[in-house]
Amino acid sequence: KIRNGHEPEFLQAVQEVAETVVPYISEHDIYAGKKILSRIAEPERLISFRVCWVDDSGEVQINRGYRVQMNSAIGPYKGGLRFHPTVNQSVLKFLAFEQVFKNSLTTLPMGGGKGGSDFDPKGKSDDEIMRFCHAFMSELFRHIGHDTDVPAGDIGVGAREVGFLFGMYKKLRNEFTGVLTGKGLSWGGSQIRPEATGYGAVYFADSMLKTKNQTIQGKTILISGSGNVAEYAAEKCIQLGGKVVTMSDSSGYIYDKDGITQEKLDYIKDLKNVKRGRISEYVDVYPSAVFHKGKTPWVEKCDMAFPCATQNELHEEDAKTLVANGCICVTEGANMPSTIEAVAVFHKAKILFAPGKASNAGGVATSGLEMTQNALRYKWTRTEVDEKLKEIMRDIHASCEQYGVEADGYVNYVKGANIAGFVKVADAMLAQGVI
Ligand code: NDP
Repeated sequence: KIRNGHEPEFLQAVQEVAETVVPYISEHDIYAGKKILSRIAEPERLISFRVCWVDDSGEVQINRGYRVQMNSAIGPYKGGLRFHPTVNQSVLKFLAFEQVFKNSLTTLPMGGGKGGSDFDPKGKSDDEIMRFCHAFMSELFRHIGHDTDVPAGDIGVGAREVGFLFGMYKKLRNEFTGVLTGKGLSWGGSQIRPEATGYGAVYFADSMLKTKNQTIQGKTILISGSGNVAEYAAEKCIQLGGKVVTMSDSSGYIYDKDGITQEKLDYIKDLKNVKRGRISEYVDVYPSAVFHKGKTPWVEKCDMAFPCATQNELHEEDAKTLVANGCICVTEGANMPSTIEAVAVFHKAKILFAPGKASNAGGVATSGLEMTQNALRYKWTRTEVDEKLKEIMRDIHASCEQYGVEADGYVNYVKGANIAGFVKVADAMLAQGVI
C-alpha cells in the first residue's frame, strides 16, 4: 500500500484478490513465508515510453505508451493494449494483475501483461490512427515477441489498430510471427476471436444458470457498453433466446422495451465500428427506444446483467437496485466493472455473480488458441474454435466451483477464480525459485 498508494485501481484489484487468497495461503504450508502474492503484485518489468506522431494538421502530438510485464511464471506475457485518455500506470497495473489470474484460469500456458497509451482514438482519422499505431510500435517492438510477450486488443484497440501495429512490427523485425493476437482472418487471425470474450461470458453465465436449473431463454437482460465485448455478449444472448433491452456508451444508454434483435444489433455494430457513431443515434432509427443521457442501465428491471464497458461502472447503489428489481445473475464482461462494495451486495443477496477474470477469459483463451494455430501454421474451423471456447469456459466454471463453494453450498465465484488462478501460478513460481 505504501509503495502503490497513488494507484487506486491497482490497490482495489490486489485487495479483492488478497481477501480470498491470503486465508488460503495461511491454510497451505507450502506457500508459507514465500511472499508469493507480494511477488505477483510487483510487475516483473514495467516499460514507459514516449510516442510522438504528427496529426492531420501537421502538429506534433506526444502521448505516453506503456507495457506492464507482470508475470511470466507459466508462459509468455499475454494481455491487451488499451488506447484511452484515462490510461495510466495504475489502470494498466490493475489490468495486468487481473490478467495473471485470468490467463492461469484458461488452462493455457500464458503469463500476464497489459499495455496501452493515453492516446484518445475518438475523432481521429484513419490516417492519424495509423500514424499513432506505427509510432507506438516503433518503440514497443523491442520489448515483445511471440515467445516473450504477445499483446492483443482492449478498449480502443480493435481489428484496425491491431493491423497497423502488426504491420510496423513485421517491418521492423522482418518476420511474420504470431506476436499479436486479434489479427485479421486472412493474415493469421483465428476464427471466433472477435466474438470470444462476449460469447465466452454468455457461455459462463449459462453454466452458472444451469446450477439453478435455468437457461437464458426468455430472460430480460441488461448490457452496458457497445464495443467488442458488449456486441458479442448481446449476440449470443439473442441467439440463446434472451431479450436484451439495453446497450450503452460513455454518453449514456438506450432502452428498447421490444428487445434488441439481431437486425438491430447489426445496426449497432455498423454504427460503432464502421461509422464510429454514438449509441444515442439508435433511437433515430428505432424510435420506440429511449436514450438516457449520461446514465448507466442498472436502474432497469431485469433477470440478468452483463457489465461490458469499463472498470467501476457498477456501484453499490446500482447493485442494490439490481437485486431489488429481481436480477438473479450478474456476469462481468468488462474487467472489474463492479466496485468491491457492489460485489459485496451480490454476495450478500446470494445471487449468481461472475468476476471478469473468470467470465471474460474467453477472449484471451481464444488468443491462446490463435497463438497455437500460428505456431502450427495451421487454421482450425469456426466450429472447432467455438467448441474449444465452450469447453474452456466450462472448465473455468468447474475450477471456480471447486475452490469457491461455501459451507451453505453457495458458490463464491470471486473466491473460486482467485484461488484457482493463484494455485497454478504460485506452484510454478515455487518450482522456479526466488527470481
Ligand atoms: P471497446 O473499445 O470495443 O468498447 C468499450 C465500450 O465501453 C464502448 O461502448 C465505450 O463507449 C464504453 N466505455 C469505455 N470507457 C467508458 C467509460 N469510462 N464510461 C462508460 N463507458 C465507457 O472495448 P472492449 O469491448 O474490447 O472492452 C470492454 C471491456 O472488456 C474492458 O473492460 C476490457 O478490458 C474488457 N475486456 C475486453 C476483452 C476483449 O477481448 N476485447 C477481453 C477481456 C476483457 P465509447 O464508445 O463512448 O467510448
